[in-house]
Amino acid sequence: MDLLDQFFGLFSDFSNPKKRIFLGYIGISALIAFGWLVIVRRASIGSSLRRIFDPKILFSGSAFADYKIFVINRVFTGFISPLLLTQVTIATAVYMALVRSDIIPWGGMAGVSKPVVIALFSVAMFVVDDFTKYLVHRWMHNWPMLWFIHKVHHGAETMSPITVYRVHPLEGVLYAMRGVVAQGSVISLFFFLFGSKVDLYTVVGVNVIVFIFHVTGSNLRHSHIDIRYPRWLEHIFISPAQHQIHHSIAAKHYDKNFGGALAVWDWIFGSLHVSEGQGDFKFGLTKSEGHSATDLKTIYFAPLWEIARFLVRKSVKVKEFVARVVKRTPTDEVREDLLESRD
Ligand SMILES: [Zn+2]
Ligand SMILES: [Zn+2]
Repeated sequence: MDLLDQFFGLFSDFSNPKKRIFLGYIGISALIAFGWLVIVRRASIGSSLRRIFDPKILFSGSAFADYKIFVINRVFTGFISPLLLTQVTIATAVYMALVRSDIIPWGGMAGVSKPVVIALFSVAMFVVDDFTKYLVHRWMHNWPMLWFIHKVHHGAETMSPITVYRVHPLEGVLYAMRGVVAQGSVISLFFFLFGSKVDLYTVVGVNVIVFIFHVTGSNLRHSHIDIRYPRWLEHIFISPAQHQIHHSIAAKHYDKNFGGALAVWDWIFGSLHVSEGQGDFKFGLTKSEGHSATDLKTIYFAPLWEIARFLVRKSVKVKEFVARVVKRTPTDEVREDLLESRD
């Protein structure tokens, strides 16, 4: 019975409104996709349904790899999560640092009314979380060692809502740490400033802004339904088509749209790409940078191998550099220089 509970526990995200793949959100996303295809794209009801539930996409080799990674990573998370820093640890550390520093007075904004504090806190939690996701995501594309890991997510050649879980466990750990630090810092800062008035506006136990993000089709980001927003709105919120552009292998789409929910970060830092025309993107990795989209052994171990090779190459370069410097500097001269510098 215990084993059975653990097995069903692996799939608990489907019944948890705090998670993007909560079945309610997936159902709403399917309805939005249907409305988009029938009303905007003027497709027939039958062809719209066939497009949304396309077996060639939902049962592709890449999709099956996504499903297996989802289960494997859930098991891994069960083992690793007790070892990670908790939000309480970070929040306590930041809170103590704020108390010790005299930068802001303790309870300095205690006079602000409770509804305002709750609204500010709900917005701050969402915005800081989204901004740190943007930063980490951008680093994952720009730093070779992190790119080796993040490539696993971009290896998906077809996308479904489960693709959001197609990440290497090391990326999972990094994102979990990011969330703990970001949210822990906001919580402690707000408690320091506003005291016990701090609370969240929630719907079904979820920050109301996150809830709005999910019921407006967050799951369609990882899908083949290229819903676009008006151009001005795509400067504020990332549309499904914009995240699909992020996954596209077309050269003009490289390093664009790192944002999670908000597009403003991409707009501010010059990585925004608004959608144009009809999607029809090719997802995945190019031949030169890619490895298999389906072989689990490669998906899990190739990044580790690539990181090791990268580090060896770097250390060889450092050794060569040191050898060149030493060769150019006769030891006696170095000794004399050192003796002179002591005077
Ligand atoms: Zn990416
Ligand atoms: Zn993605």
